[in-house]
Amino acid sequence: MSPSRTRVALLGATGSIGTQTLEVLREAGDAFELVAIAGGQRLAELSAIAKEFNVAHVGVVSDRDAEELRGLMGRDETIVVGAPGLSELATLGDVVVNAVVGFAGLPVTLSALSAGKRLALANKESLIAAAPLVQLVRDTPGASILPIDSEHCAIHQCLAGSTLPGHPDVRTIHLTASGGPFRGMTREQLAHVSKHDALRHPTWSMGPKITVDSSTLMNKGLEVLEASALFGIEAQRVDVVVHPQSIVHSMVEYVDGAVLAQLSLPDMRLPIAYCLGAPVRLDQGWGRMDFTSNLQLDFEAPDRLAFPALDLAYEAARLGGAAPAWLSAANEIAVEAFLNDQISWSRIVEVVARVLDRYVACELSSIEELFENDATARRLAHGMVTA
Ligand code: NDP
Ligand code: MG
Repeated sequence: MSPSRTRVALLGATGSIGTQTLEVLREAGDAFELVAIAGGQRLAELSAIAKEFNVAHVGVVSDRDAEELRGLMGRDETIVVGAPGLSELATLGDVVVNAVVGFAGLPVTLSALSAGKRLALANKESLIAAAPLVQLVRDTPGASILPIDSEHCAIHQCLAGSTLPGHPDVRTIHLTASGGPFRGMTREQLAHVSKHDALRHPTWSMGPKITVDSSTLMNKGLEVLEASALFGIEAQRVDVVVHPQSIVHSMVEYVDGAVLAQLSLPDMRLPIAYCLGAPVRLDQGWGRMDFTSNLQLDFEAPDRLAFPALDLAYEAARLGGAAPAWLSAANEIAVEAFLNDQISWSRIVEVVARVLDRYVACELSSIEELFENDATARRLAHGMVTA
């Protein structure tokens, strides 16, 4: 085993981002060593990954899962449990990939940065909810965040050379959105869409939560908050433009009028490989473009009336403090209720709006405050989806 191999901890290894990260690692051969993985329900898959990559540390959600996993693996890996387990695994490796879905990814983000690791961040929810707390640990020597989210990975690349804090040389970040499966539909038409319709994304194949978020445009709203926190740019300077082909992954417009964009076919393995290899670009070529084919790039304004989630996210940004945590927590509960057939599609964003209406200003200066705010927003949302 060569000492120059980059050690990777992959938390959320069994999901959509996790599985695609494994493909990048397979393609890269000896350059990386997978030292830790964690997952949720899919224990058989987790065990298969541990065996294939000879992983020494595995994280599961409960003691019962740990027992079941031990039975499946029959080897002597270290098995850790729950949020403390995720925190522990996030201190291993040179790069920590946070591919857990939802607020459950918070321990990974905070622990990886506190331990001075490079955080390859897919889990936007943790950054959005805990932005003021993440800023406190971001300056830990050695710590950095590289975004896996394709738009933010594009922006990160287009910002190379813009080094002043707050990016005063940037006029606007143009965040591109596919528009999701319901692009072009009116509010009236949207009242009748089904779960099956919402889960059919036109350009990306992703886990269920983010696929539903893409259908409501809440994903884009969350991404406005994510961009603001990642790049230290006010949300008003982050603009959303619908681009149905998902080829331009976002654009940075500088004050002199120059616009820089990053293009590729939609393939998450490209931003994943970028985050794993940085500062070296891996010679893998995911999503390569053919400019001699009949390439068409369309852009249009989002329909903010039909998709009110966008304005809700800007409102959460304006409120600041714990408001983004409320928005994201309420959205998690509403999306789960939609996936469990408890509420209709239109009610997802309605629930989030009603919860955000009840927001009580809080600056978020401790993790305890974050958990309190998260729990309050969840309780309110839960009351609404079960009413
Ligand atoms: P999936 O639902 O496909 O995967 C989620 C992963 O998290 C699974 O490995 C799941 O385990 C694991 N998990 C869930 N709960 C826990 C927990 N409590 N502890 C440990 N692991 C847990 O989601 P995606 O891969 O689509 O998304 C992951 C994150 O990446 C999300 O934040 C999403 O917004 C973001 N993202 C995803 C993109 C995509 O293309 N998929 C694009 C950009 C961002 P199991 O499956 O075993 O239950
Ligand atoms: Mg994205």
